[in-house]
Amino acid sequence: MAKEFKFSLRYILLILVFGLELLSCAQKPVELDVIKGVYGNPKPFWEKGINLSDLGVNAIFVHSGSINREMMKRARAEGLKVFAEFATLNGKNYIVKHPEAWAINEKGRKVEAAGWFMGVCPTEPGFRKYRADQLKSLLQKYDLDGVWLDYIHWHAQFEEPEPILPETCFCDHCLKKFSDDTGIEIQGGTISEKAQWILNNKDNSWRSWRSRVIVDWVVEMKNILREIRPDALLGLYHCPWTDEEFDSARYRILGLNYDLLKENVDVFSPMVYHARMGRKPAWVKENIEWFCERMEIQKKSYPKVWPIVQAHNSPGVIPAEEFEMVLKGGLSGGSSGVMMFTTYAVAEDDAKTEVLKKVYIGLREIPADY
Ligand SMILES: [Zn+2]
Repeated sequence: MAKEFKFSLRYILLILVFGLELLSCAQKPVELDVIKGVYGNPKPFWEKGINLSDLGVNAIFVHSGSINREMMKRARAEGLKVFAEFATLNGKNYIVKHPEAWAINEKGRKVEAAGWFMGVCPTEPGFRKYRADQLKSLLQKYDLDGVWLDYIHWHAQFEEPEPILPETCFCDHCLKKFSDDTGIEIQGGTISEKAQWILNNKDNSWRSWRSRVIVDWVVEMKNILREIRPDALLGLYHCPWTDEEFDSARYRILGLNYDLLKENVDVFSPMVYHARMGRKPAWVKENIEWFCERMEIQKKSYPKVWPIVQAHNSPGVIPAEEFEMVLKGGLSGGSSGVMMFTTYAVAEDDAKTEVLKKVYIGLREIPADY
C-alpha cells in the first residue's frame, strides 16, 4: 500500500513537473527553423517532377496574384510555409484609372515612370483603402504564413546600377497632410514654389514626415494582418543601401527609416540583387553583415533577416558558382533564412538546382556563419 502510494505520488509529481515544463515551453516565443526559401511560382520545379521539399526548401514566397488553392494544397502537402508578396505602392494601372493618385514632382508635374516602376501617391486616401481591401480579401481567402510588403517606398527606382531618384510627392494631399501633421505653414503660390520652399527651408521635417508616411502604411497593413491572421508574419522587401550610399537616398528619397521600421516589421528581406545593382557577388555577404550589425539583429531573435538574392540571368549570366556564393552570403551575419529571385531561374538550370539542393539540404540548423 505504502509502496503503491509512493509510486503514485512520484507519478503525480512527474506529471506536475512535466506539465509545468510544457507550460513554460508554451510561453516561449516560437522559434522558427532556418528559412530555406524560393521566390516565385513553384510551378517550374513541379513541372519537372521535382518536389521542393526534396531540394531542402521549406518556404515559398509567391506574388499574391499567383496564389491559388491548388498551389496551397500541394505546398502544404510538401510541408512548405507559404508567404505572399504584396505589391504595395507600385501601381501604373491604378493611376491611369485614378489620376488623383498620380505622384507629383517638385516642378508640379505628374512623375514619369521610374524604369518599370510607377509609384502611387502614398497619402491619397482612395488608394490606401483600395490596397487595404485587397490585403483583407487575400488574408481571408488563404491561410498564409505571412505577407511580404513589396514596393513600399516613395516613387523611385533602386534596382539598377544608376538609380532614378526623383523628389516627390507635392500633390495637394501630401502638401496638406505635411502641413497638418507638422504644423508648418507652407509658403508659395504654385506647387513648384511650395516644393522649392519646403526643400530649401524645411528639408529635415519633410524627410522625416515622408518616412513616417511609409511607417504608417506598414502599421496599417500589420494591423490588418494581426486581426485576420494573428500568427502570420509581416515581412518587407526593401532597398539594401547603407545609410550613406547615394547621398542617403534610401532615407531621403525612398523614405525608409530603418529605426522606425524595426519597431513594426517581423522580418526584413534586403533585396541584394548584386548583378542588377552592378555589384560584385562578395557584396551580398558584406551588405548583410552590415545590415544585421546596424539593426542589432541576431539569428535567434525578432526582427529577423531573410535576404533575397539573385539567381536570375539579367543582366548577363549568373553562373552556378556565383549563385552559391550569393546564396551563402545571404545567410551571413544575423540572417536566419534566405530566398532567391526566382524559382524559374533555378529550375531552368540543372547546375543551379544542384547548388540550391546542396546548400539547403546541408542546412539542418541556423549556421553560425558563412
Ligand atoms: Zn501625394
